[in-house]
Amino acid sequence: MKTAKPTATAAVKAAAQSTAQSTAQSTAQSTAQSTAQSTAQSTTASSAHSHEAGHMHGDSQEAALTLAEEYCRERGEKLTPIRRKVLELLLNSGRATKAYSLLDEMRQIHPGSAPPTVYRALDFLLSAGLVHRIESINAFTVCHDLTQCQHGILVVCQQCGTVTELHQPKLRQALVAQIEDAGYRLASDEIELKGLCAACQAAEAAATAAAGSAASVAAAK
Ligand SMILES: [Zn+2]
Ligand SMILES: [Zn+2]
Repeated sequence: MKTAKPTATAAVKAAAQSTAQSTAQSTAQSTAQSTAQSTAQSTTASSAHSHEAGHMHGDSQEAALTLAEEYCRERGEKLTPIRRKVLELLLNSGRATKAYSLLDEMRQIHPGSAPPTVYRALDFLLSAGLVHRIESINAFTVCHDLTQCQHGILVVCQQCGTVTELHQPKLRQALVAQIEDAGYRLASDEIELKGLCAACQAAEAAATAAAGSAASVAAAK
C-alpha cells in the first residue's frame, strides 16, 4: 500500500507527559458519558460537531495525539496529517463512529476528501493498534489504551456506540484458553460484547415508564 508522505509531519512536540495516557482515557470516557444521553448512532456525526475546540478537553486530546505521534515514530511509521486528523475526529467523537461520518467531517475540513483517504488512514490506525473496529455496529473507536497494544475486552452499547474497554488480562486469557480448548481460534484480536450503556438503559426505562403511564391513562378512560 502506497501512502502519501507528508511534507512535514507536525513538528516534534514536547515529549509526552507521563499523564498523557491517563488523561487520554479520561477524556475518552468523560466525553462518552457526557454525550451518551443523546441518542442513536445516526446522530453521531452531528453530535461530534458540537465538540469544537474549547468545549473538548483540548489539552488532553493534544497530549493523546502527541503520544500517538511518538508511538508511530518509535515504530518507524508516520502519523501523517490525514491519519492524525482521523484519530483526532475519533477522539472528539468519544464513541464508536462510522467511516462515512468520519468522511463527512473530513470533508468539512478538507472539501473533496475521497473515501479511500479516510479508509487508508483507518487501516493504518487499526494496524498500529490505535483504534478498534467495532464489528457489531460497523464503526471505529479510539483504543482506550492508546499505544499500549494490550487490548481489553470491548463492551459496546448497541444504541449509542459508547465503548468501554475492560482491562482484565486474566479474564481475557481464560476466555481465549477456553475458546482454544474448544478447538477455535479467534478471528481477530478484538473481543467484543454487545451491551446497552447506563444512559441508554435509563432512557429506555423512562420511555417504558412514559408508555406505561400513557397506557394506564388510556385504560382509565
Ligand atoms: Zn484497545
Ligand atoms: Zn448507550
